Amino acid sequence: MSTPQRRPLPATRPSDYEAIVVGAGPGGSATAALLADAGHRVLVLDKAGFPRHKACSEYVNPEGARLLRDLEVEEEALALGAHRMAAMLIHTPGGGRFLADFAEAEVGRAALGLSRHKLDHLLLRRATAAGAEVMERAHVRDVLVERGSVVGVAATIDGARAELRAPLVVGADGHHSVVSRALGLDAAPPWPRKTGLVAHYRGVTGLDAWGEMHVGRHGYAGLAPLEDGLTNVAFVADAAVVSGRDGPLERFFEGGLARLPAVATKLAGAERVGGIRGVGPMARRARRTAGDGFLLVGDAASFLDPFTGEGIYEALRAAHLAAPVASAALRAGDVSAATLTPYRAARRRAFFAKRQVCWLVQGFVHAPALLDYAAARLDRRPALGRTLAGVLGDFRPAQQALSPVFLARLLRP
Ligand SMILES: Cc1cc2nc3c(=O)[nH]c(=O)nc-3n(C[C@H](O)[C@H](O)[C@H](O)COP(=O)(O)OP(=O)(O)OC[C@H]3O[C@@H](n4cnc5c(N)ncnc54)[C@H](O)[C@@H]3O)c2cc1C
Repeated sequence: MSTPQRRPLPATRPSDYEAIVVGAGPGGSATAALLADAGHRVLVLDKAGFPRHKACSEYVNPEGARLLRDLEVEEEALALGAHRMAAMLIHTPGGGRFLADFAEAEVGRAALGLSRHKLDHLLLRRATAAGAEVMERAHVRDVLVERGSVVGVAATIDGARAELRAPLVVGADGHHSVVSRALGLDAAPPWPRKTGLVAHYRGVTGLDAWGEMHVGRHGYAGLAPLEDGLTNVAFVADAAVVSGRDGPLERFFEGGLARLPAVATKLAGAERVGGIRGVGPMARRARRTAGDGFLLVGDAASFLDPFTGEGIYEALRAAHLAAPVASAALRAGDVSAATLTPYRAARRRAFFAKRQVCWLVQGFVHAPALLDYAAARLDRRPALGRTLAGVLGDFRPAQQALSPVFLARLLRP
């Protein structure tokens, strides 16, 4: 696959592109690749130059890994050093443990750890190889709306304002989505309001083929082994506590990790490589994910919290849900909200139940005694543990973890 190149500024004739994808994270690149695979003329705009880093724990859940296979990039991800994780070990505040064993829940299942520096560049190369045009360092500032329909975007490219037009705009511009904001769709849930901080470390010991989550009373940490002996280390705490901290962010981050004894032991001989990246508050959603002339995918559509590890999966899955709807609408020459509505319905079917599971898990993470209690029961009741591992890995229907039978078995003494 060739490296994405900076392309000359395209002409702004309406017929040049059928779709403009704003953002080249997993959601945008996968949507662009699938639309280009289907024969559409696609332009991808990203304000960054690739490869670039992204604040993320860099854990692709098992179903996300399968979607990488569907996109025919899994092999290359493994060749780039993606680290297979057959399970996720969750440490609770009272010293309990629950192993979400993906391979036990379904043979061959594993999550992948790969830096976003490598993963996102790989997916962007996939989009380019499919025929999508890519413009890096193209900062979208606004959407163009005519007669109530989105018809393009206004961007800053090489310091100059440019208007780029296409029948369909896909907002895949992540957490601070300009597309969602410009359309007045942004809605931040009042809870949880948490900030996630991440960094790469070298020399972390005691990590094997699993990722780890460590929940404390002051926040939680995640450890994910990546390529080239790197480990992603994340610390998540209340956004108000992070912004009201005394002293530098570095001290806060390292202090938070030091208060989690099992993490501190693993980091004892390790050194941080590069800076600390953060996002907060992380939870967000758009009131609508499709409308006249536009679709939203990935974080631009919604994101809750990294604890349950489905952000990249949801971005990739949303691309798979959006592309056929967008393709049919483009072929029909009708990109109205009514024609794009099946995408909203497909999202509801794909994500709604899992989101309820995520809210439940958030409740447990915020109630240490309850989390200790649940972990002890999951440990003793392997069938429940397998169900939850499959649901968290997005390869079993989330409804299984919401059924009264499951919840009763989980909560009975
Ligand atoms: C601290 C933290 C830890 C996380 N850990 C995990 C994890 O371990 N596993 C997991 O699955 N998910 C995790 N997530 C969530 C995951 O990072 C996101 O869900 C995922 O990146 C969403 O992909 P996306 O393509 O929608 O957006 P992004 O990956 O955010 O990509 C958006 C792209 O849009 C570009 N862009 C933004 N604005 C503009 C603009 N105005 N003009 C042009 N381009 C623009 C950006 O440069 C970027 O390249 C984590 C999130 C946080 C904050």
